[in-house]
Amino acid sequence: MAYPDTFEGFAVTDTAKWSTTKKIEFTPKTFQEHDIDVKIHACGICGSDVHTVCGGWAKPDLPVIPGHEIVGEVVRVGPKVEGFEIGQRVGVGAQVWACLECDTCKDNNETYCPQWVDTYNATYPDGDKAWGGYSSHIRVHDHFVFPIPDELPTNAVAPMLCAGITTYSPLVRNGAGPGKKVGIIGIGGLGHFAIMWARALGCEVYTFSRTHSKEADAKKLGTDHFIATWEDKDWAKKIGRKLDFIISCGNSATNFDMDGYLSVLKVHGKLISVGLPEEPFTLSAGSFIKNGCYLGSSHLGNRQEMLDMLKLAAEKGIGSWYEELPISEEGLKEGLERCHSNDVKYRFTLTGYDKAFK
Ligand code: NDP
Repeated sequence: MAYPDTFEGFAVTDTAKWSTTKKIEFTPKTFQEHDIDVKIHACGICGSDVHTVCGGWAKPDLPVIPGHEIVGEVVRVGPKVEGFEIGQRVGVGAQVWACLECDTCKDNNETYCPQWVDTYNATYPDGDKAWGGYSSHIRVHDHFVFPIPDELPTNAVAPMLCAGITTYSPLVRNGAGPGKKVGIIGIGGLGHFAIMWARALGCEVYTFSRTHSKEADAKKLGTDHFIATWEDKDWAKKIGRKLDFIISCGNSATNFDMDGYLSVLKVHGKLISVGLPEEPFTLSAGSFIKNGCYLGSSHLGNRQEMLDMLKLAAEKGIGSWYEELPISEEGLKEGLERCHSNDVKYRFTLTGYDKAFK
């Protein structure tokens, strides 16, 4: 059997050997009227892939095929699909389904639908399993498929499908624009996009990194101010209460200076953690009282935000800073391990799909 009955992908089968993948054949979800099959050309490696395969959040549903920053071409469309054609270049991000009927979905908050289905390590309501983008193809509901503007090169746009939208959405939802002072914590896949978006939207950007090692890059990405929180003495006092809101892209809570970050917010300012550390944050009620600040989160971004983000990227020439790796057992081992040790500037894009999947 082969496509369209089965797809192939690189699966992790044991969290103790989380960077070891094996090529397997798998059965995709049952093809529905709104589904699109995408033949994959490129896929980013997200910090979430690493949390998942390590079992850091929870034991994954093994075997798991990660990957949710996907670009490819449409090879099949269901009878109710409108606006997509065979051969069209499209992207798929970190979500593949929502009910699209509940109040949350009708409010354009489908990324918060109580029934949302992630792109991998997830199960559809009918029991079908979801498989990610380290694969030959993906089958997905058309609401979660996005046309890619011609100006955006495949390998640079792939990481935007998760890292890009996850930072774009909370920025625009919190009024990013001229006159706003915005903080970004952590220069990784998400963080480097957050700096570029905040700059492109006209904010004054404060970037918080743990050390000075990424300072030159942060300036090239567009930050106005750079703070190394593990190295600069009294950094919070020096800034004072200046920031309207902060987007935290940190993937670990180890020595995460929550009090320091909260203290530089204006009265009722917000810290929005899109980062999902495996360990809990250390918090005390007293950290919030001085400026009445808030702590919250944000999940991906809705369909309209994804389309707006891709348009903005095309207009402003924004793309990921990325390194290419071949999709293969060796390429994935290197990518997952280097992503785990924060050794990538600032995303890996997996390429060479035609070679890996005949
Ligand atoms: P990366 O590994 O690329 O980047 C993580 C960055 O976090 C590092 O580069 C580092 O920046 C920073 N960091 C690490 N430890 C700390 C710490 N203790 N204190 C402060 N900063 C720290 O990961 P991604 O960008 O791919 O993902 C980031 C997080 O976002 C992950 O937890 C991921 O699961 C989550 N995520 C959430 C989504 C959502 O919808 N909310 C969607 C996708 C991902 P530096 O070296 O500059 O200090």
